[in-house]
Amino acid sequence: MTVLSDLITAMTRGSVRVIDLTHTLDPDFPVIVLPADFGQCARFRMEEVSAYDHRGPAWKWHNLSMSEHTGTHFDAPIHWVTGRDAPNGATDSIDPGVFVGPVCVIDFSAESARSDDATLEPAHILAWEAEHGPIPADCWVLLRTDWSHRQGAAYLNLRDDGAHSPGPSPEAVRLLLERGIRGFGTETVGTDAGQAQHFDPPYPAHALIHGAGRYGLQCLRNLDHLPPTGAVLLAAPLKIKGGTGSPLRVLALIEEPAP
Ligand code: MN
Repeated sequence: MTVLSDLITAMTRGSVRVIDLTHTLDPDFPVIVLPADFGQCARFRMEEVSAYDHRGPAWKWHNLSMSEHTGTHFDAPIHWVTGRDAPNGATDSIDPGVFVGPVCVIDFSAESARSDDATLEPAHILAWEAEHGPIPADCWVLLRTDWSHRQGAAYLNLRDDGAHSPGPSPEAVRLLLERGIRGFGTETVGTDAGQAQHFDPPYPAHALIHGAGRYGLQCLRNLDHLPPTGAVLLAAPLKIKGGTGSPLRVLALIEEPAP
């Protein structure tokens, strides 16, 4: 058990640290807004059952309600019609080994600061690989946009023609899938760009990644604390029977450089 005992030693000494990539579940945190003719995703709600009072003198607890896709959350393959028949494609049937794995972080923050509709293209991925090496198979890829620093209306950035936020082009998604990625994660409210309904196919991150039986993460934060390579991602959704996704606590283990 040398590897695990070495890990615990490193965590005790602080040379391996835990980074929290999760937003607080809060009724005010924005959820995705779809055109009015579609069903809508529910915000987080917390109802007090008792608080050391006549409803329960020695205990406090809450009932919760929310969408599977509220707050920092995981997308399972069956979330999208292209992945509806993916084997082990629901939150309760995915191999739990998927929930722990290596992660590459593509820094797209400068482009995202220049344009709300910044689109990740294959050229950006190839430039990243020229600097950091090929994206390994079965690796999570997270897109850093610094979008998590936004608050309130600026987060969804809704205009008359819908949301405006960065995301990948269909060609970029195809290149990531050629690399055999495990999944794709973003700081925005979805894995797709705000205007991805106009892409071909529409919503390519959802359509292509879930169609390939792979996974999504969104509403991440603190990606600016992660190295481009070398971190380990821990992202285990709730084991909801037939679930299409789930809020979750996303953590990363990072190794501090040797002094
Ligand atoms: Mn989702």
